[in-house]
Amino acid sequence: MSKLLIIEDSFLIQKVIKHLASVELNCEFDFASTMAETIELIAKNDYFLVLADLNLPDAPHGEVVDVVLSAGISTIVLTATMNDERREQMLTMGVLDYIYKENRDSYTTAVRLANQLLLNREIKVIVADDSKTLRNYISAQLRKLLYDVIEVENGIEALKALAKYPEVGLLITDYNMPKMNGMELIRAIRQTRTRDEFPIIGLSSSSDATLSARFIKYGANDFLMTPFIQEEFQWRILKAMEQISLIKKIKEAANRDYLTKLYNRRYFFNVAEKLFRSAKIDDTELTVALIDIDYFKKINDTYGHDSGDAVLVELSNLLNKTFNKYTVARYGGEEFIIIIEGVSRVFCAQYFERFRDAVARTKFTIPDGVITVTISIGVGNSLKSDLLEMISDADTALYKAKQMGRNMVAWS
Ligand code: GH3
Ligand code: MG
Ligand code: MG
Repeated sequence: MSKLLIIEDSFLIQKVIKHLASVELNCEFDFASTMAETIELIAKNDYFLVLADLNLPDAPHGEVVDVVLSAGISTIVLTATMNDERREQMLTMGVLDYIYKENRDSYTTAVRLANQLLLNREIKVIVADDSKTLRNYISAQLRKLLYDVIEVENGIEALKALAKYPEVGLLITDYNMPKMNGMELIRAIRQTRTRDEFPIIGLSSSSDATLSARFIKYGANDFLMTPFIQEEFQWRILKAMEQISLIKKIKEAANRDYLTKLYNRRYFFNVAEKLFRSAKIDDTELTVALIDIDYFKKINDTYGHDSGDAVLVELSNLLNKTFNKYTVARYGGEEFIIIIEGVSRVFCAQYFERFRDAVARTKFTIPDGVITVTISIGVGNSLKSDLLEMISDADTALYKAKQMGRNMVAWS
């Protein structure tokens, strides 16, 4: 597993970074205080990135950067002083970026950047440009950011690459290309992947002022004027990627239950309303089931709230695994809801009965050992005038199951 190397001779700064890195960094890291130590460490270890101080006792003028870059390791410079000349010199040498050593925030930025680069190694990027020169230049920049780059010459090829590697996480596209241009490419991709899910950055030459606006309108997340400087390119990409991952996190947080990680009620109703309307129109089968743990209060009272939580989590995992083709949500405290579309009553009955039986035979792990629990299931499946009525049917059936002695499936 590759690691991060931090070159820094001040023990005070080492201490600050060590603390930050232990909390925030998602990989192992080493420290070097001198150039001699650096040479020794990079000979023995596999580093994906180096954070380098320019001023070391045995290398006062940034000589260590040469050493690290010659070893083919991506380098970010940490520096207290930087003038235009120095900056130009560093970037020409091939340094990825430089960060001013000003305060704690600088080190946080460095650690975040390191984390992003760590992630980048798993991300495929498509670069679509018909100019080989520009394509090579952009690809080289992206490879420095450790992305896995796929180069294509036009929009058609980009679509093919996207079909072949659906896990691609970023597209950078030129406008003018033979066969299919950048705008047509974006329009084609946006039919299935939204701006919030898949980032696209358009490239426009400064000779066409309207292009950048059109790029954004047609669905690009950002655009870059060519020629561009390396730093702007890097940071625009990092920003675009960060935005996508933030949106994903916010969506997950809004749609998921915190404890069980199942979908929440809100999400359930969004999906279920659509399924209901579609089942009404096509007159197809739709089944809603409420699942409630029997005597759950007793588990809390006997073994403690933590044990209750553990049971909720384990049952949720079972639900997810068993009904992975359908929508499962946490409906309330110890109550769950499932909606199943296009499956006959007979098959649904089998699913639920098998699940009830599997739960009853499961040993649930709690802090003090293992326990067994049972569930009751109430099912509604007649397409009433609205979804709420269907759920209310399931609830009535659930009440019936509880009345009849629990650990059973009842239908409305
Ligand atoms: P029945 O068989 O009739 O369903 O009885 P029950 O005890 O399961 O049902 P009741 O509705 O009386 O109690 C549900 C309990 O679930 C009460 C509540 O404190 C507990 N509960 C709700 N949410 C959570 C949670 O997130 N964690 C834990 N540990 N307990 C919870
Ligand atoms: Mg209960
Ligand atoms: Mg209950």
